[in-house]
Amino acid sequence: VSGLIDISQTLKAGIATWPGDTAFAPFWVMRLESGDSCNVGSVTMSLHTGTHADAPRHFLAGGATPAEMDPSPFIGKALVLDLAGVHTILPEHLGNLATGKTEGIERILFRTGTARADQFMGTFAHLSDSAARLLADLGVLLVGIDTPSVDSSDSRELLVHKVLAGAGIAILENLVLAHVPAGRYELIALPLKLEGMDASPVRAVLRAL
Ligand SMILES: [Zn+2]
Repeated sequence: VSGLIDISQTLKAGIATWPGDTAFAPFWVMRLESGDSCNVGSVTMSLHTGTHADAPRHFLAGGATPAEMDPSPFIGKALVLDLAGVHTILPEHLGNLATGKTEGIERILFRTGTARADQFMGTFAHLSDSAARLLADLGVLLVGIDTPSVDSSDSRELLVHKVLAGAGIAILENLVLAHVPAGRYELIALPLKLEGMDASPVRAVLRAL
């Protein structure tokens, strides 16, 4: 027993992508069955496919790239909050966080149950600007959600992204939390060291504390 809980989407053909974004397409460059000396796989994909970290470069012209991001927010104590039934996450949904009862928890993962790995949902739960500001005030290091975006699906300003990034808060999207009871865990979800780009896939896991 590894003690790890996998909270990553499986990257495979047919995985949901944002409308208009690049579909996940695996292909072979070399194949044993074709007489090559080994199998060599390759993929075409958007960096926002599956469970991923958004870098500030995603929404700020001169923002940090994955290679420039500090990896430390992506490892450490995390709180999974169950917000089933909530569409717009407001400060009041942050409950004990706001009253300081969860001191020492610097990463918050929102379980909303409003998105799927195999189909892009036109609408899904997201953070409000005011909740993002509260998380910034609380000194949170990372915010994760089980939907394709921390902003609403029709947001063009990406204000939640900007408030979080402005406070130095790392962002994880498309987490898989349906099988994870609310509570405290250790999160491990390192982005790749991608230079010049705006996001990175991660393999996200939790370890029970
Ligand atoms: Zn993203």
